[in-house]
Order: sequence, then C-alpha cells, then structure tokens
Amino acid sequence: PSLPLFAAAEQHARNPDKIAVIDTTKQQSFTYVQLLADAAGLRKRILEELSLTASGDLEDRRIAFLVPNGYDYVVTQWAVWAAGGICVPLCTSHPVKELLYTVGDSDPALIIVHPHFEKIAPALRDACPANIPFMGLEPLSRNVAPTLPTFSPPFALTRPALMIYTSGTTSNPKGCVTTHENITFQASCLAKAWEYSPSDHLIHVLPLHHVHGIINGLAASFLSGTTVEMHPKFDPSVIWQRWQDRGSTMFMAVPTIYSRLNDYFEAHLRGTEREAAARAGARALRLVVSGSAALPTPIKSKFAEITGQVLLERYGMTEIGMALSCGLDVQQRVDGSVGWPLPGVEVRLTEKETGRIVEDVDEDGMIEIKGGNVFREYWRKPEATASEFTSDGWFKTGDVARRDSTGAYFIQGRASVDLIKSGGYKISALEVERKMLALDAVEEVAVVGLADQEWGQRVAAVVKFRDGASLELPTLRAELKNEMAPYKIPTVLKVVDGIERNVMGKVNKKVIVQKYWPEA
Ligand code: ATP
Ligand code: MG
Repeated sequence: PSLPLFAAAEQHARNPDKIAVIDTTKQQSFTYVQLLADAAGLRKRILEELSLTASGDLEDRRIAFLVPNGYDYVVTQWAVWAAGGICVPLCTSHPVKELLYTVGDSDPALIIVHPHFEKIAPALRDACPANIPFMGLEPLSRNVAPTLPTFSPPFALTRPALMIYTSGTTSNPKGCVTTHENITFQASCLAKAWEYSPSDHLIHVLPLHHVHGIINGLAASFLSGTTVEMHPKFDPSVIWQRWQDRGSTMFMAVPTIYSRLNDYFEAHLRGTEREAAARAGARALRLVVSGSAALPTPIKSKFAEITGQVLLERYGMTEIGMALSCGLDVQQRVDGSVGWPLPGVEVRLTEKETGRIVEDVDEDGMIEIKGGNVFREYWRKPEATASEFTSDGWFKTGDVARRDSTGAYFIQGRASVDLIKSGGYKISALEVERKMLALDAVEEVAVVGLADQEWGQRVAAVVKFRDGASLELPTLRAELKNEMAPYKIPTVLKVVDGIERNVMGKVNKKVIVQKYWPEA
C-alpha cells in the first residue's frame, strides 16, 4: 500500500511524458516520473539530516519549509510525506516575526529553506530556537531520463500529513492538523465534483500555505493527473497573456484577484488589438473558480461581461477543505450562493443559542460539517478542538448561512464579527456589503458592528468610493433606502483610500474596528 497521492502519481507516471508541473520561474516542465524520483531523493536527504536511517520514519515530526511556489515546493511537500512527516508550509510573504509564530507554535524538527529566501534566512535562523536545524535546498532542474523510484511511502492513512494555519481573521492563527485520509478525501471530492482530468491544465497563482492553493490547486490536480502550471505570484498581465496563448483549462483565485484582472483588462486590453484574443482566451477556459472570501457581485458581473465566464463560487475553510460548491453546469451557479454540499460532505444549519436543527428555507443557522474532509485537531489546542465539535461529532464552522428552496447555501458571514445585533435585529454584514456594492459610487466596503449603549451595536461602513464619487452619510443612506430595511442601513461612515486585505483577500474586521474606532 502507498499513500493515495503517490499511488495516483505512479499511475500517471505510466505515461513517462505526462507533465505534473510546469514551473514558470525555471521555465521547465517536470513529469510525474521525475516528481516521484525527486521526492524519493529529497526524502533520503531529510532523513539523513535528522540522523535517521534510509528506511527511517519521521514519526509525525513537523518539517517546516519556506519554498517559493513552483516545482521545488511540490517536491519538498512530497518528500516530507514520503518520510512520514507532517508538512508545515510557511507563508512566503510573511516577515520573520510572523514566521516565528508558525515555527514556535508548530515546533518543527527541521526547517527547510530554499535559496530564494537566502536574504531572510539568517535573521530567521538567529531568531529560531538554536536546537532546530536548518537545511538548504538544491533547486531542481529537469532531468531528461528520470527513473521511477522503487520506494513507495507505506504509512497508514490515518497519520497526520499536513498542518496549515488558519488565516487568523478572528484570533491568532491555529494549526489545523489533517491526515492523509482527510486530504485525500478533500482532494477527491473536488476532483469528482469539478471533473479534474489528465487533459486539464491548471494555472496556479495562489499562495501555498493555505488550503485553497494546496488542496484545490495541487492535491486535487495531482490525484487526477492534471498538469499544474505554477507561477511564483499573481500578475494580471501574465495571466491575461497565458489565457490568450490558450492551452490551459482551469483557473482558481480569490475575489481580489478577479477584481485586479478586471481592472487590468479595462486599463490595458479594452479597445486594443489584443482585446478580442484576450477575451476569447478567457472564454475558452473550462472552469474558473472563486472562493476564500465573499465574491462581490460587481466583480462577478464584470468578469462575466468581459469573458463570458460565470465564476463558480465555493465555500471552505482550513479545517474542512471545501464543503459547499456551485455546480459545473452553469445553470447551477446561483448569484450570491456558494452552492450545495460536495459529495460525501454532510452539512447542516443549527440555531446558535439552542443547537436546534434549522430546516426552514431562508432561516439563518450556524454551519456544521461532518465527513472525511474534517480535520483531526487544532495543534496542541485540545480545548479549542473540543469546543469546536458538537457532542455528536459535527464541526462547528462559526459561519452563518441560510438555504433557499433548492438547498443552495448563502453565506451570511462569521457569527463572531459579521453578524451584527442592533436594536434587537440580527444583521448580516455580508448582506449589507453586497447591497452597498451595487451602488455605482461604492468600490470597496467593509461593514462592522460598533458597540453602542443604546442599540447594542450600530452598523458602521468603511467605504472606498470610486474615483470622483464621494457620498456624505445622509446621501448614502438615502440611496440605500430602497435596497434594504432601515435598521440595516449604516449609521456610521468612514471614508478610506482602500481596505486592507491579506493575501487570501480577507478583511480582518477586528483590526478595522481597532484602527478606525479605537474607543469602541
Ligand atoms: P481564523 O480561523 O484564524 O479566524 P479564517 O477563518 O479566515 O481565519 P480560513 O480557514 O482561511 O481562515 O478561512 C475560512 C473562512 O473563510 C470561512 O470560515 C468563511 O468565513 C470564509 N469563506 C471561505 N469561502 C467563502 C466564500 N465563498 N464566501 C464567504 N466566505 C468564505
Ligand atoms: Mg476560521
């Protein structure tokens, strides 16, 4: 027996020319055969580094690594798995201070640093506990005649494989431990639902310390024999060019990336001789997915207008991979909805106060999840793990949603920051944001609740207006009057030049409140 990802790769490697990774930085492509060969080679080096024998087992030691998006990242990840370790991918855009948080918390046996990060490496090394060894990586290049290794990782599927940190939107990032079983489940239910295949070619631009890039991007693709074209980072001009070049079939990103693609098109492609070819290239894609944060309707409509592509929205989180998704069939893409449960994933809504199961259409409930996709535990946080599961084994996501009559889910936001209680009403910040974004003047908005003696909370909006437009609060309120019930309309307005988001396009609302209303 071998780990499913390796077993799948061995199958794909039967075609010795089948490409697993195109590395755009190296400008080289790597076959599934070479991926397995290189992973086996690096596995040996890692074991040696820790003075283990060639048949050794890392026995769930954590191996942290700082490797740029590309082939070397994939090999490092697979080598750690092949050696029986737990991968802790470090965020490549984090400063030393934040890297130290992840290192300190995950307590790795080894830190692997790619030469790309040689500038930051000494500072990281100095700041890390002296007993953690550092290991450099030889950047890999294409081997013209790689041979399939005889070694196949034999470890039990129930062993932990991956520790990804949550985005830290609501409190300090928590390490989520997932097993090989979990990641195989997460990857295979997506592969099934979105029909990844060996003829697919995914353009991958997402960070690789997060479930979106690791599972949806890499694992589901490698399970399916899909070729992954890895870019070191997102650059709209490159992506438009690659779409125009044709040949790729899938693209996945967060809403801010689609917004930047739209802006790039307007600034550099519309009205030029490239316009038609760029549009046609984007239209030719088989699947274009958005997630990790709510997709504002204007971004979705604009992208559809330019490319003819209706973005497929899905919902997931670090702890569970993906749980809900709209359908491959364009008829099954409902505006504002993240769709239906993925195959094998059970989803229910419960009332926050009582735990009663919500059955009614259009009634808000807390999303709870059960299935092989659900993570094992928060790393070294047994209380947090215990408190996030119900007594009958459902994981409490902390997100609120409602369902329509077809069972499609509509995310209302996080119970802790997006559900505002004002004057006895419950208001979804996400709903108010969606409606405000429909106004021509509003480019970006974050809606938050501010503590208030009289109302419990007041609805406050942080707004970036479009160039040339700026509304005073009374005008804004008047414009929103026809859009929503009076109690939902913001009574506090803060005008800003831009709203800060992390690399996954998420807004940290606690930080926003502290920044603009420190006394609140
Ligand atoms: P932390 O748990 O540390 O506070 P986080 O929850 O932001 O951070 P992630 O696991 O990266 O960390 O993000 C998962 C969350 O992202 C979900 O719980 C949900 O609130 C949000 N999310 C994901 N996809 C969508 C979507 N399509 N629409 C709206 N929200 C989404
Ligand atoms: Mg979370």
